[in-house]
Amino acid sequence: MPAPARTLFVTTALPYANGPFHIGHIMEYIQADIWVRFQRMQGNAVHFVCADDTHGAPIMLKAESEGITPEALISRVGESHRDDWKRYHISFDTTHTTHSPENVELAQSIYRALAARRLIATRTISQFYDPIKGMFLPDRYIKGTCPKCGAKDQYGDACEVCGSTYTPTDLIEPYSTLTGARPEMRDSEHLFFRLSAPEVAEYLQRWTAAPAPGQALQPEVFNKVQEWLGDGGRKLADWDISRDPPYFGIEIPDQPAGAPAKYFYVWLDAPIGYLAALKKHFDSGAARALGESRSFDAFLADPAVEQYHFIGKDIVYFHTLFWPAMLHFAGRKTPNNIFVHGFITASGEKMSKSRGTGISPQRYIELGLDPEWLRYYIAAKLNSHVEDIDFGPDDFVARVNSDLIGKYVNIASRAATFISRHFDGVLATPAESANDRANRLTISQMDAEAARANYEAREFGKVLRDAMKIADRINEAFDAAQPWVLAKDPGARDRLQTACSQALQGFQLLSVMLSPVLPQVASRVARELFGLSRDFTWNDAWAEPARIGPYRHLMTRVEPRQVDALLEAVPVTPDPSPGDGKGASEAPARITIDEFSRVDLRIARIVAAQAVEGADKLVRLTLDVGEAKPRTVFAGIKSAYAPEALVGRLTPMVANLAPRKMRFGVSEGMVLAASGDGPGIYLLAPDAGAAPGMRVK
Ligand SMILES: [Zn+2]
Repeated sequence: MPAPARTLFVTTALPYANGPFHIGHIMEYIQADIWVRFQRMQGNAVHFVCADDTHGAPIMLKAESEGITPEALISRVGESHRDDWKRYHISFDTTHTTHSPENVELAQSIYRALAARRLIATRTISQFYDPIKGMFLPDRYIKGTCPKCGAKDQYGDACEVCGSTYTPTDLIEPYSTLTGARPEMRDSEHLFFRLSAPEVAEYLQRWTAAPAPGQALQPEVFNKVQEWLGDGGRKLADWDISRDPPYFGIEIPDQPAGAPAKYFYVWLDAPIGYLAALKKHFDSGAARALGESRSFDAFLADPAVEQYHFIGKDIVYFHTLFWPAMLHFAGRKTPNNIFVHGFITASGEKMSKSRGTGISPQRYIELGLDPEWLRYYIAAKLNSHVEDIDFGPDDFVARVNSDLIGKYVNIASRAATFISRHFDGVLATPAESANDRANRLTISQMDAEAARANYEAREFGKVLRDAMKIADRINEAFDAAQPWVLAKDPGARDRLQTACSQALQGFQLLSVMLSPVLPQVASRVARELFGLSRDFTWNDAWAEPARIGPYRHLMTRVEPRQVDALLEAVPVTPDPSPGDGKGASEAPARITIDEFSRVDLRIARIVAAQAVEGADKLVRLTLDVGEAKPRTVFAGIKSAYAPEALVGRLTPMVANLAPRKMRFGVSEGMVLAASGDGPGIYLLAPDAGAAPGMRVK
């Protein structure tokens, strides 16, 4: 095979192995995977690896609380991660774990190299210690009363009530969240990476200004890093890289004889996991299978190999300061660049696992939603900046149904049918002059070149906007030719064949452009429709196909109710136990009075009622339930009641129903109505004298 133009080593951030992915993880994998697939289509050699980040106190304590070993926990979580990577078509070449011999070897070797350069310092620090648990407490396991506003049960670093930040020792009446014990201050010897050493500050100034020839950090990342560096790097503080036992991690080598063991802080060995995964990739033969004949060490010693890490904006500090400094002073290759993305929110709300809202990637799959819809939607929102992106349910439905299906897939389904039925699959452009043909191919090449530049710069939204403009152009030309009229006219066969052939060639261009985003659909288009025995490469964008195979359905439309179900405020249960939540839906089972009394039924007054645009059956009710704020409830009663006729009525409602996020807003309860087999819905009403807020028992 010909030598690749470029050789790239690419990673995403390593996911922490304490639970299944949330949507933010999936967004990052999609972003990196699109870029990697694009690079592969250019003929570049890409080594795309990832690993689970498995060490640290949270994993140790979670395993303990489940009564299992940390190894058992990370193996179970690792399996769920690998399943999701596969389901979302994330094409890592190798995935590994930081709890591996490769990582132990690399972490210890990097540490020794730093120590040899006198960049490791030993210092005694005072830290909170839980005397019952017998361990030093990470800040997140200490709570207490906020020293500024007096709010109780605040974390050791910041108050959620007044927003002040402080250190755990500032807390009034601190306690360990593990045991409730009052923590004691104890001394311990810690090891520090001397980030404040002048040569480190000097190096980081240089690296952050130009990480590699022709590379620059994103402007917003660069500015942030300059703030951290301060004037000439004087703001850098040494970094505490050791932890005392008990700790689930990698032991620090070369400690004085007889001294208790020390472990690397998880944030030291986590990024080294990038290299451990790459080493595994080489040792397992996976790199060789991709045409790479060098050893792991020779590969990384080659300055021409480009190294990139995709990460979220919350871990920039680790990746732009600690990581390049560690690598450089250990005599290793440093990253060519760090590509930073923002967070993903749902309709403006930050996705929060603890609040039980947000989009679960696992539920997305369970509900039968197509992973390539999400890839497309996220790609359409991504650019090269560190911007948060918002998941809007209506926007999602529109992009999938109007753009992806209505504009893109539609071209093939319409044009291919004529070609198969009237021309036995043969494409031709006989009604076209040589000049027109040359022009058309030039336009295809220019479109592909614009997409290439935008993909390279991670401007995926631009690629998709351009693709939809091209799709519009193709659909307009197709409609203007009126093939359905031409098909009835035996004298117009050439024109029919030309119009459909040109549309299909345009479809091929679009499919090449969309391949990194829609790998599965594009692969089927290449093989089934255009008869290739391989997936598309970039040069196929302007190739002229001679014939097509029969069109087979490529992608379905998304149903808005699927998205509603996805956004319902179901608690996110990280580890669903088998067999729960399944029951017959026949007559409800008998319940006890205690069970019934868990339903909080209240009298509500309907203070406003409006039709809901885009929902035939729903009325948006504003209900006074005797609380400070009225509630919003969506009720499927529009077929029976004009909204204005409902205003002023009293009706019972379920007041403690979990809020349900719908496409139109959050529904905060349920009103009660009777219905039978026939049409007709009958809202319940209390006798005169009942008032808003009264309990129904
Ligand atoms: Zn406070």
